[in-house]
Amino acid sequence: RVMVLGSLNVDLVTRVERHPQPGETLLGDGLEKLAGGKGANQATAAVASGADVVMVGAVGDDEGGAAYRERLRDKGIDVSRLRVVSGEPTGHALIAVDDHGENTVIVVPGANARLDDTEVDAVDDLGPGDVLLMQLEVPIPVVAAAARRAASRGARVVVNTAPYAALPADVVALADPVVANEHEMVALAEAGAEAGSLLVTFGANGASWDGRSVPAHAVDAADVVDTTGAGDAFCGALAAALAAGDDRDSALDRALAAGAAAVRHAGAQPDPHL
Ligand code: ADP
Repeated sequence: RVMVLGSLNVDLVTRVERHPQPGETLLGDGLEKLAGGKGANQATAAVASGADVVMVGAVGDDEGGAAYRERLRDKGIDVSRLRVVSGEPTGHALIAVDDHGENTVIVVPGANARLDDTEVDAVDDLGPGDVLLMQLEVPIPVVAAAARRAASRGARVVVNTAPYAALPADVVALADPVVANEHEMVALAEAGAEAGSLLVTFGANGASWDGRSVPAHAVDAADVVDTTGAGDAFCGALAAALAAGDDRDSALDRALAAGAAAVRHAGAQPDPHL
């Protein structure tokens, strides 16, 4: 089983000719409402890879949260640990894309910022053979406590250090592996955090797990539609493979395949419309 503890965001995307200056109002062209948030992206990738997945997180008491819950349930993800918090919206990302494909993004964490001991307690359902997969879009103390709890129960902990935030040294050490992209790898090194096991992703150049490098699955430049969510697809598939008992080489290969597939479609998840 894979338990994903993390964020869910409704991505609101509009297109602009150029980005507004401070104080300026511009018109956006179109409005898309897309499923995002690293936690839910990775849970979706893990279930697509055949894992039993439980999503641990929170949404607001609003339409976006209800739609998202239904979406995950339809995909076969266990949403019984998805909490509804009042007084906060479901997490949102407000995204403007200009004619050059340059984005500005405002993330409103909303309910994602309200994870607490309730979510840490969910980890008590895990044991040996299970995988706890986390990212850093939710409060770091919750990530740290959940990692320690899972490890003490014999479950495997996979931590994706995105978006980068400093983690306690013992959490970096117990994760197997820490998954970082190139930028996060540099930040980890600068923080002096010693990973027990480190898997670095290099986009079109593949990945390297504790120094063993493997090339990406080739995708024709013409088929690269949108690299958003490649890292999330990679992590979700990796966790699913590890929970299925795959060895490192085989798990890494499944993760690389999922990362390559993700760049062929728009959005952070396949068919992302909410
Ligand atoms: P992030 O999106 O988190 O920055 P990366 O860009 O490193 O992560 O991409 C994660 C993984 O997705 C890579 O290790 C690779 O497997 C896959 N990937 C990303 N871009 C490509 C690409 N252009 N061609 C093939 N695979 C890709």
